[in-house]
Formats: sequence, C-alpha cells, structure tokens
Amino acid sequence: MPFPQDHHAVRVEQLTRVYGSERQPVTALAGVDAAFARGTFTAIMGPSGSGKSTLLQTAAGLDRPSSGRVWLGDTELSGLSETKLTKLRRDRIGFVFQAFNLLGALTVEENILLPSRLSGVRPDRAWFDQVVSRVGLSERLRHRPSELSGGQQQRVAIARALATRPDVIFCDEPTGALDTSTAADVLALLRALVDEQAQTVVMVTHDPVAASWADRVLVLADGRIVQDVPQPGATKIAEILASLGRRRAA
Ligand code: ADP
Ligand code: MG
Repeated sequence: MPFPQDHHAVRVEQLTRVYGSERQPVTALAGVDAAFARGTFTAIMGPSGSGKSTLLQTAAGLDRPSSGRVWLGDTELSGLSETKLTKLRRDRIGFVFQAFNLLGALTVEENILLPSRLSGVRPDRAWFDQVVSRVGLSERLRHRPSELSGGQQQRVAIARALATRPDVIFCDEPTGALDTSTAADVLALLRALVDEQAQTVVMVTHDPVAASWADRVLVLADGRIVQDVPQPGATKIAEILASLGRRRAA
C-alpha cells in the first residue's frame, strides 16, 4: 500500500531484524516505528547492542529487514530489486561511517565523485564546487586521504555523501574517532546542512554532547524505541542514558 507522506524523508514501520540461526536467533530490531521529517536532525542513542547500527543500515537499504517496511519519501524499499535498491542508495541516500571509509588510492576529489561515477551520472560541477567549499576542502582536492587529519577526512566523507543531493544522510557515530574540538566542527557542519539546505540527517551517537546538536533524540534499548525526546539538552540526555543503565542493571 503506498503511503505518501511527503514531509517525511524516511519512515520505518514495524521494522524487525533477526540475525543468527533459527535455533539461536539474535533480535537486533524488535518492531521499530519511526519517521524522520525533511529538514530535521535526529540523534539515535542507546546502549551498545541495542540495534542502532541495524536501524540505520536497514533504513538506508544497506541491509534487508526480516519484516516491516521502509519508505524513502514515497518509495517503499522492500518492493525493489537489488539493482534498483543499489541505484536508490547511490542516488538518494548518503552514509557517513565512524571510520570515514575513504579509498586511499583516490584523491579527495575522486572520492567525492565516486558515487556519481558509479551511477554513471555526469557530475554537476556547480553543485560539486558548492559542496566542496561548504565543507572547507577547496584547497585539498588533489590530496590523498592519508595526507589529511581525521576531521578533514570526515568532511570528505560528508562531501561524498552530499554530492548526489541525497534525500537523507545517515551517520553512524561520525565523531567517534575524532577529538572533541574536531567533533564539534563536524557536528556544526551537519547542523548547518539541516538549517541552511533543509538536509535531513539521522545520526547514531554515544555522546550526549553530540546528540545535543540534534532536534530530537530517539533512544533504543533491546531493539525498541524507548524514548523520543524533542530538543533535549546534553544534561537531559545524559540523565536519560544513566536511567537506561540503571534499568538494565536492575
Ligand atoms: P548497536 O549499533 O546499537 O551497538 P547493532 O545494531 O550493531 O547495535 O547490533 C544489535 C544486535 O544485533 C547485537 O546483539 C549484535 O550483536 C547483533 N548483530 C548485529 N549485526 C549482526 C550480524 N551481522 N550478525 C549477527 N548478529 C548481529
Ligand atoms: Mg553500532
């Protein structure tokens, strides 16, 4: 059934993902309903193993759910062939990983343009220049990733995610490998993309300070959403996480 809800960039319904064998199943997601409005910045938090990465990967079409549905705008992912899903991922979804995942043999420019080249799309040079300048990499285009700092490498990854003008950018602990001040630069950049370009960002993080840059915090525990908190500050987020720790310890 189509479900046109155009103000949502992404929506998931009763999403489950079970890993492992039939005899020893591991339930990573146990029925998650969530919607991410266009032009918003959401942080996803929760204890290690609570299903955060699995939620991102299934919502991004990198992994297939065991049951439930995912919509990117009006497109339902479960109906798509592998080929169509791969194309949709390249054209409409950006993904930023903790470990940057850049190709060391390619220059910064080549890394940023790789998804477009794989899609066979002629790069939009004006948009490329705008993205590169927005992330502050105009002077680094001919460098290799190994010649850059961690923060610069993550900005390359963000530029690569932005290059195809995606509907949404998923980030899995994008600041996990960065020091505090470099992390703040990357978070300010994500925040600016949301505020200035109505980009939609969904970010997994362990860090209450990182999460406080978001408009909303979803908390996962044991594969379920247990809290959905609008505009919390870092103190409130830290309290939520502490209470979750106590609940699990009890
Ligand atoms: P988080 O990102 O919150 O730490 P994950 O989504 O990575 O959690 O994992 C959720 C649960 O699913 C964990 O119990 C984890 O061990 C399990 N899991 C994740 N990926 C796999 C996989 N490829 N095979 C088997 N189990 C997995
Ligand atoms: Mg994870």
